Amino acid sequence: MQQYFIESKLSEKILFNEEQSHHIAHVMRMKEGEIVKVVDCEEQAAYAAIHYEGKKAVGLLQEHLPDDHHKQIDISLAMALVKKEKWELCVQKSAECGAYDILPFISSRSVVKISEEKNDKKLARWQKIALEACEQSKQNHRCLVHPICSFSQVLEKEADLKCIAYENADTTADSLGKVLCQHPNIRSVLVMIGPEGGFSGKEITEAKAHGFICVSLGKRILRAETAAISAVSMLTYHYELLGEWYGTNKENSEKG
Ligand code: SAM
Repeated sequence: MQQYFIESKLSEKILFNEEQSHHIAHVMRMKEGEIVKVVDCEEQAAYAAIHYEGKKAVGLLQEHLPDDHHKQIDISLAMALVKKEKWELCVQKSAECGAYDILPFISSRSVVKISEEKNDKKLARWQKIALEACEQSKQNHRCLVHPICSFSQVLEKEADLKCIAYENADTTADSLGKVLCQHPNIRSVLVMIGPEGGFSGKEITEAKAHGFICVSLGKRILRAETAAISAVSMLTYHYELLGEWYGTNKENSEKG
C-alpha cells in the first residue's frame, strides 16, 4: 500500500499535489477505489480510496487510523557531514529507522565542504530523501533535515538525554545500552556522530561540558554512516521494541 503525505488537514475529499497525482495515475496506475494511506500536516493518518476526476486523482476518506506518536521517542540524529553517497544513504536509512530529525553539522575534522549557494539545493534534496523514506516505512511523522550547522550549535540543542558517540572511549565511556537503561522515562534523545576523522579530544570535552554523555556503540569501530544508522536503530530498539515488550510484560506481571 502506498503512503502519501499531504500539506492540508484530512477531509472527506483529499487533494494530492501534482507530483502525487501523477505518481498515482501514471506510475502506480492505480484503479478507481484502490486504497492508499494518507498522512496530513498534523500527522493524522487515514485510509483513502482513489477516485479520478478527469485525469486528476483525489482520495475519498474511508477510515481514520489511530495516532501512534505517543509511543515514540523523538530521536534527533546530529551527524557530521560525510561524502555525498554515504550522507544520502545515512539520511535515508536513519529516517527509515525512526529518526525524528537530522542535524547535519561541520566539525573540526570534517573533510566535506558545501558552498553556501549550494546549501538550499542540497537541503531540499536531503529533505525529499527523508520524506520518501518516511512514506516508504509508513511513518506518520516526517523526519525533518535541518540546515547545516556548526558543532557548537549542536551543543546548544535541548533533549532529555544527549549522547556523543565516541569510539576512542577509554573506560570512562559507558556503552549506549547501559546509558539508555539508566534513562528509562525520557521523551527525546539527541545522539551525535562524528565525521570520518572522528571527534577531537577538545570537542569531546566541550560536549561533556554541555551535558552530553560519552557513549560507546560497541568494540567495533564503525564508519560514520554505519554508526549513525546503528545508533538510531539501537535507540528505536531500546525505547520502542524493548520498551513495548517491557511495558506489556510489566503491566501483565503487575496484574499477576
Ligand atoms: N576514529 C575513528 C577511527 O579510528 O577509524 C574514525 C571515526 S568513526 C569512522 C566516525 C564516527 O562514528 C565517530 O566519530 C563516532 O561518532 C562513531 N563511531 C564509530 N564507531 C564507534 C564506536 N564503536 N563507539 C562509539 N562511536 C563510534
